[in-house]
Amino acid sequence: MTAIQKHIEEAHFSQRMNGLRAAVLGANDGIISVVSLLMGVISSGASQATVLLVGMSALIAGAISMAAGEYVSVKSQSDTERADLAVERASLEANWDEEVIELAEMYEARGVSRETALAVANELMAHDALGAHAQDELGLTDTHAPRPIQAAAFSAAAFVSGAVIPVVLAWLLPASLVWVLGLLTLVLLFALGALAAYAGGAPMVKAGMRVLTWGLFAMVATYLIGLAFGVSVA
Ligand SMILES: [Zn+2]
Repeated sequence: MTAIQKHIEEAHFSQRMNGLRAAVLGANDGIISVVSLLMGVISSGASQATVLLVGMSALIAGAISMAAGEYVSVKSQSDTERADLAVERASLEANWDEEVIELAEMYEARGVSRETALAVANELMAHDALGAHAQDELGLTDTHAPRPIQAAAFSAAAFVSGAVIPVVLAWLLPASLVWVLGLLTLVLLFALGALAAYAGGAPMVKAGMRVLTWGLFAMVATYLIGLAFGVSVA
C-alpha cells in the first residue's frame, strides 16, 4: 500500500468512526432521558401500564424532538453558508482585483512570500474563484450538499435505538426490580461511553465513567422526585 492509499484509507476510517460516535451519543441521549423519566414514574408507584405509556411517549417525543433539532440546525447552517457564498460571488464579480489581494494576503499571513501568495491566489481563482474563497476565507471545506432529512432521520433513529432499551426493560421487569433496570442501564451507558471514546480515539474507561456518572445522577434525581411526589399523592 502506498502512503497516499494508506492516508485515504485512514480518512475513510475516521469518517466512519465519526458516524459511529454520533450514533452512540444519540443512543446515550435516548437511554438517559427515557430511563430517568421511567425511574421517576416507577418510584411514584404508578402502574406498569402507566410506566409503559410514559416510556413510549417519551421515546416518540424524544425522537421527533431530536429530528426537528437536527433538521433546523442543518437547514440554518446551510442557509448561512448559502448567504455567505452569495455575498462572496457578488464581490468576486464587482471587485476581482481586491479579491485576489484578499486571498493573497491570507497566504502571506500563513508564511509564504508576497510573490508566491499572489501567484497561488491568481491560479486558484482562475481555476475556481468561488471555491478558493469559500475554502480559505469562509472556511467551507465541506462541499457536499447538506442533507437535512437524512440528518434528522439519523438523529431520530440513534435516539430510538437507545430509548427502546429502558422501555423494553421496564416492560419485562416488575416495579420491585427497578434497581435491576438502573443497574443494567448503567452498565450499558458505560459500554456505550467507552465505544464512543474508542471511535473518537479517546481513553475508553474515563469516557465510560463520565457517561455512567451523568446517567446515575439523572436516575437518582428523578427517582427521588418520583418518590417524593408518590408519597405526597398517596
Ligand atoms: Zn473573498
